[in-house]
Amino acid sequence: MMTEMANTLTCIVCRSALAPGHQDWHFTCRRCGLERSNLKVKINHNFSLDEDQRLQALHAVRQRNAKQVIGHLTRLLNKSSLQILDVGPGPGWFLDEAAKIYAPVGIEPDRSIFDRLQSKGHKVINGFFPEDVPKDQMFDAIIFNDVLEHIEDIPTAISKCSEMIFPGGLLSVALPVKSGLFYKLSKIMSMAGFPSFFKRLWQVDMPSPHLYYFSTKNLTQLVETDGFRLAVCEPMDVLTYDGLFERIRYSGENSFLKATVLFLPIAFLVFLHKLLPRDTFLLIFTKAK
Ligand SMILES: [Zn+2]
Repeated sequence: MMTEMANTLTCIVCRSALAPGHQDWHFTCRRCGLERSNLKVKINHNFSLDEDQRLQALHAVRQRNAKQVIGHLTRLLNKSSLQILDVGPGPGWFLDEAAKIYAPVGIEPDRSIFDRLQSKGHKVINGFFPEDVPKDQMFDAIIFNDVLEHIEDIPTAISKCSEMIFPGGLLSVALPVKSGLFYKLSKIMSMAGFPSFFKRLWQVDMPSPHLYYFSTKNLTQLVETDGFRLAVCEPMDVLTYDGLFERIRYSGENSFLKATVLFLPIAFLVFLHKLLPRDTFLLIFTKAK
């Protein structure tokens, strides 16, 4: 109980006391800007049809995000075979892509997700990171895609990564950041008395809500205390021009003429979105040699 209270009230980055935030479950660090919640995690729920449909809608973007991470691993490590650990693979978008080149392993606590990944032919450990990773196993890269912000004890997770990654290896973290446009909008709406978007972004009432919102700066500060150095810090692509016309044409079954008319305003929105503060970032850290 004492530990839980201490975690709730102390910043994991700068050790300052956390101050009350915008909701009774939300806290902020006035010194480094870290935000956290005391929302409860419920692992081992059952997938619903709604979730399946939501996953389908996200597929193209997630596949692209996975390729973005793998491109960096290939470039930075430059080895023909890589031992990769994907923490909390979820539907397996990263494993699907990584398995085309390397032999990645996933670690997944949720039994039904674990079963799905195994039935797709992926190598997966059913359990929690870091305690269920086989002892003395080392990796070239450990991957957290939309996962780190769900972990209660992040400092321990990062120091375990430092022990499990070969010198010169990589720790890759993709996560929502507090500087994002949508996150900032959600806060303004919450302060104006409309908290539903803010609660949605923190995934309140979802099986695994967000426990933290970092900035790229305070995350780097935290990870670099464990012998890592920042190598990549860039926004994750959410909307792209690639195949945009085809997506407009076929996703809504639009005629060629209608798709042509729709293309320009949608392309303009994609262009605008690239200029605005992005909500998801990719940070890759190199372990000291
Ligand atoms: Zn702080």
